[in-house]
Amino acid sequence: MRASRYNISTTKETPADAEIVSHQLLLRAGFIRKLASGIYTWLPIGLRVLHKIEHLVREEMNASGALEVMLPVIQPAELWRESGRWSQYDDGLLLRINDRHDREFCFGPTHEEVITDLARSELHSHRQLPVNFYQIQTKFRDETRPRFGVLRAREFLMKDAYSFHMDVDSLRQTYDLMHQTYSRILGRMGLDFRPVLADTGSIGGSASMEFHVLADSGEDRIAFSSGGRYAANVEMAEAVSPPADEEELSAMADFHTPGIGTIEQLSRFASVAPEKTIKTLIVKGSQTPLVALAIRGDHQLNPLKAEKLAEIAAPLTLASEADIRQVCGCGPGSIGVVGLPIPVIADRSAAARRNFICGANRDGYHLRNVNWGRDCQIQAVYDLRDIEQGDASPDGDGEILIKRGIEVGHIFQLGDKYSKAMNATVLDDSGKAVVMSMGCYGMGVSRLVGAIIEQKHDDKGMIWPLNLAPFHVVIIPINPKNVEAVDETVEAVYGELSARGVEVLIDDREGRPGPKFADAELIGIPYRIVIGERGLAGNVVEVTRRDSGETRDLPVADAVDEICQTIAKA
Ligand code: ATP
Ligand code: MG
Repeated sequence: MRASRYNISTTKETPADAEIVSHQLLLRAGFIRKLASGIYTWLPIGLRVLHKIEHLVREEMNASGALEVMLPVIQPAELWRESGRWSQYDDGLLLRINDRHDREFCFGPTHEEVITDLARSELHSHRQLPVNFYQIQTKFRDETRPRFGVLRAREFLMKDAYSFHMDVDSLRQTYDLMHQTYSRILGRMGLDFRPVLADTGSIGGSASMEFHVLADSGEDRIAFSSGGRYAANVEMAEAVSPPADEEELSAMADFHTPGIGTIEQLSRFASVAPEKTIKTLIVKGSQTPLVALAIRGDHQLNPLKAEKLAEIAAPLTLASEADIRQVCGCGPGSIGVVGLPIPVIADRSAAARRNFICGANRDGYHLRNVNWGRDCQIQAVYDLRDIEQGDASPDGDGEILIKRGIEVGHIFQLGDKYSKAMNATVLDDSGKAVVMSMGCYGMGVSRLVGAIIEQKHDDKGMIWPLNLAPFHVVIIPINPKNVEAVDETVEAVYGELSARGVEVLIDDREGRPGPKFADAELIGIPYRIVIGERGLAGNVVEVTRRDSGETRDLPVADAVDEICQTIAKA
């Protein structure tokens, strides 16, 4: 491929609205262009990488025995009504469309309904099971905050697979196989990734794992045990209770705290550590209009854990200031757990506290030496908070470490949620109809492009591994005097490498070598070969590796052989 014919459009400037490295580099290297918020065009060079990722994913899915299908992007509303998700699907993510006859459709954000509809018409007998269908397809989700380029787009490419089974044992086997397949895919991409326990959402019960690429820019926080076996998304990691305080109970007393409204201010004002304070949040209840949640001052409420409780309304909704005033008799900064006329639900660590400080339910006042049982009552104790760095690991093996990750895959034992609602059955060997068990397995193909860059870049640009790079080699001729030998060698090296299956870009554009070197580094091409008159005088070309920066002068034949051999191993 000749760069002069290849629409390479790089820029030096960092685009103003791109917050993180992968987004900046994708724009600067001319891989993508924004059409509208969260909607991108893939330019030729970017599409080469996207296709390579897609190809690798397809290879491994095929090797696992999954069968490729292509489901329609546009889905009829009736299917979503059958599953019950037309009205329920997450916060407006669904892009709804009407056709000329005013029939309702949506642009598929995911395909459980469509595949279950296919399964109920195609699968009749237990002999056809298990089966795992997958596709690599465009999805649309009207994300509330599209950002970070391809990492959280609205239109994006996903590999999604759905498996069907006679029973849960068979489902578990395919789930484990997908776990291995995902590990192979991400391993072949050279990524530092972790499978982590994930929230099973409103479906509940069944197992679910996310695959995270570790990166400081990741939106998710992952809790790891120092022992090494436990890893879970902070969203769902169980926060174990510390040992209960054992100090003597002191006498409760109020104190004046003018203008103090936050835990930080309170802790400074009263000279106590935030962990000796309790904050009280008033939220909408499901059995009573309002419920008070008591959390240690240094801890964060975990909304997902809270809204799963029978006592609390989902989605978690904070009480209005007017409601708070009516129930507590004070503003949000002075709420406490003593004398509240509504049920108090405490986090485990809050329940373990003695002689704590909390609001006095009176503006400008707090209470010290408050104690459960003696001064106030707990209706129930649950795990309500985010796990934190330094907490004991829930598996009992060491302490928790928190790192950030980008979710690139999610595997899920769905059970019969969709098959039951949509009556997807097969006949067992006695001729009885059995509702199939289902698994689903998503992987963010376009998100992976960004995730890989987040892990593999330096201040000069992207660093692609050989198996994903847009080109394996860039040849940069240096030939200001138009020496024939230089042109001949460039063509010879290009011809030889191409003949041996290597993907080569010749940078034959007008202009000085400096900007060409910079572009090659920005795009992250693994090998650079510089061919010039001076080197040829000594019968050598200059070969540089993008990852290590190592440069060597090699005779042409050696350079070609070495590159071909390394690529064959990649
Ligand atoms: P997230 O929590 O990041 O919003 P999700 O849990 O909603 O993702 P799934 O429904 O599990 O996503 O989708 C499967 C995979 O699709 C995800 O693991 C992710 O890699 C990818 N994906 C999901 N949403 C987006 C998006 N907005 N942009 C790009 N990729 C996405
Ligand atoms: Mg997910």
